[in-house]
Amino acid sequence: MSADLRLLQFPHRRFNLLTREWILVSPQRTQRPWQGIVENAVHSPENRYDPSCYLCPGNTRAGGVRNPTYERTFSFDNDFAALLPDSPRFETNERGLLVAQSEAGICRVVCFSPRHDLTLPLMSFGEIRDVVDVWCEQFQELGRIPWVRHIQIFENRGASMGASNPHPHCQIWANATLPNIPEREISSFEAYRSEEKSCLLCDYLKLELARNERIVCYNEGFVVLVPYWAVWPFETLLLSWRHIGAIDELSAEERDQLADILKRITVRYDNLFETSFPYSLGFHQRPPGGRPHLEFHFHAHFLPPLLRSATVRKFMVGYELLAIPQRDITPEAAAARLSNLSELHYLQRSGPT
Ligand SMILES: [Zn+2]
Ligand SMILES: [Zn+2]
Ligand SMILES: [Zn+2]
Repeated sequence: MSADLRLLQFPHRRFNLLTREWILVSPQRTQRPWQGIVENAVHSPENRYDPSCYLCPGNTRAGGVRNPTYERTFSFDNDFAALLPDSPRFETNERGLLVAQSEAGICRVVCFSPRHDLTLPLMSFGEIRDVVDVWCEQFQELGRIPWVRHIQIFENRGASMGASNPHPHCQIWANATLPNIPEREISSFEAYRSEEKSCLLCDYLKLELARNERIVCYNEGFVVLVPYWAVWPFETLLLSWRHIGAIDELSAEERDQLADILKRITVRYDNLFETSFPYSLGFHQRPPGGRPHLEFHFHAHFLPPLLRSATVRKFMVGYELLAIPQRDITPEAAAARLSNLSELHYLQRSGPT
């Protein structure tokens, strides 16, 4: 039996190139009966405007500030920010046992659209392109602040991913140190570059294209695939064909292509279980300022919790919290399901289905 066939049938570990951690795959378990929690299926909000939403145009936020009657996107500093730009700088270290440092940062919110009821897959290409432009502007603006070392653009979609408001929006946190995961990824990129004299993700992408087992969709600028080491059932990695480090290096054409690929993958996600598909989405980009980071390859992670229907999700508990993340459905099977889906959103199909 070939190694590839054995990977589809027997328990094994796979190596995550970016974080240099292992994950456990148990393909023989996919038939196991589920008697755990069943969630309510979630659909997009029905109203274009919600008078009680603190992100809708013209409404007053919890902190008392009134939103402008914005017509496209709208960015503001989070009223209840997790990080503060002007907090005092300090450090403590008691015999290397009690170690702490102050952390400075800025937390912003970006509303994708004035429409309360539109998620990325339901927005038009032009509306998503506006969001891409705001991400570029924010990356440039925050990147010019001398102490900023990391800019995290992320979207939590759906209450099951902790989104506190259904109005489509993302957050951007800029802070003064490298957080754990970007720091690990940067050292993986650096190690690969010094050993192989090339880029980790450029080489990985070439191999994935040659194998064609985990590709979900692509256009001229970007590819979406289920990474070999995916932990979440339908986790995907979105990466640029071109070796660039951050969103501000995209050409106008590539910004169009990013908007296009975001629509394609998020429509596929919604179509998978005909639900408003929850996920955390985040971009990983080179640190702004400081030395150039030629080793870094711009990419995004979609981390969705749903497992086998709109109502059954994967939990990271027990063994996964204490030992190693584990999955049942193989990344190859997940990629095949996603790549076979329509790119026409199930709510926008006309006629009888
Ligand atoms: Zn709203
Ligand atoms: Zn690269
Ligand atoms: Zn990453």
